[in-house]
Amino acid sequence: MSSTLQELFIPAHDGAPEPPRNKVTVVGVGQVGMACAVSILLKELADELALVDVMEDKLKGEMMDLQHGSLFLKTHKIVADKDYSVTADSRVVVLTAGVRQREGESRLDLVQRNVDIFKSIVPQIVTYSPHCVIIVVSNPVDVLTYVTWKLSGLPKHRVLGSGTNLDSARFRFLMADRLGVHPSGFHGWIMGEHGDTSVPVWSGANVAGVSLRVLNPDVGTDVDPENCKETHKMVVDSAYEVIKLKGYTNWAIGLSVADLTESIVRNLRRIHPVSTMVQGMYGITEEVYLSIPCVLDGGGVASVVHVSLSDDEAAQMRASGSALWDIHKELQDL
Ligand code: NAD
Repeated sequence: MSSTLQELFIPAHDGAPEPPRNKVTVVGVGQVGMACAVSILLKELADELALVDVMEDKLKGEMMDLQHGSLFLKTHKIVADKDYSVTADSRVVVLTAGVRQREGESRLDLVQRNVDIFKSIVPQIVTYSPHCVIIVVSNPVDVLTYVTWKLSGLPKHRVLGSGTNLDSARFRFLMADRLGVHPSGFHGWIMGEHGDTSVPVWSGANVAGVSLRVLNPDVGTDVDPENCKETHKMVVDSAYEVIKLKGYTNWAIGLSVADLTESIVRNLRRIHPVSTMVQGMYGITEEVYLSIPCVLDGGGVASVVHVSLSDDEAAQMRASGSALWDIHKELQDL
């Protein structure tokens, strides 16, 4: 007796079902991973979403919860497993797995623990999706992007870090808010290391092509009468403030990762500040990843924008590069 399925459908060909074309994997289903997953789903970027984590109950619960909403989404296949075969044929892989700092733990010890976690993740990702683009989100993001590149064996343009994409979004929101316009109306880039030593490029800040530095030559400096420099301090402090208030940050990073994913899966060639290999730029001699404006296409970083930095800004980039290299030198077994 034939089944309902056999009664209902007459196959049009004998071949295997079509493989996914825009499959996205998110590794780590914590606060950040799930915000990335939901943002990617709502932007309708993936024809299949895969989730991976080591916490099996949480992983299954998150998968089921999303599947129950799939009537309202354009991603009909949502899968999850701790086994990486579930990630096979991904176009984009977002890495948000990691551990948080323990009380009294040094930054380097935290990095080494996250490096050890990445050693269990990255080779498996590449085995199952050798042509993917990896977006690293876990912190310290610039160090872990370098680590991912090393562990993956992928060409450097296929591994990028979310870097200062979020810092720049915070900067644009805060400056636009001062000026009473939408964040897209203020153009300003934060480069360098994600976090404390990020570099605001005041020399390029503008609204509709009108340079703020032409209107106010001291903009962003210590003697700026309007104290715009405060805005960058707010950007740096904002993660700490949000974490103090709600325990973690997730929505803005989720939205920003979905924006990066969109440029890759839709081959848009939009420009984003993301962490990429900057050896040879701005006098940086070491193999380090830092954020600069990058053109993103279907293959990852297609090219980087050569931003003319002031001497001071370039010196800040070099200082970040040296600080990161000091960490890289200490990492075990890369
Ligand atoms: P979280 O603790 O809520 O989630 C981390 C998840 O990783 C957990 O579900 C955990 O089970 C999982 N995990 C741990 N080891 C794993 C392994 N070996 N394989 C698979 N999964 C594993 O943390 P969160 O709040 O989601 O933050 C995640 C990371 O994102 C942190 O490193 C955080 O600092 C970083 N972050 C980065 C930015 C940015 O702008 N780059 C912004 C916010 C947070």
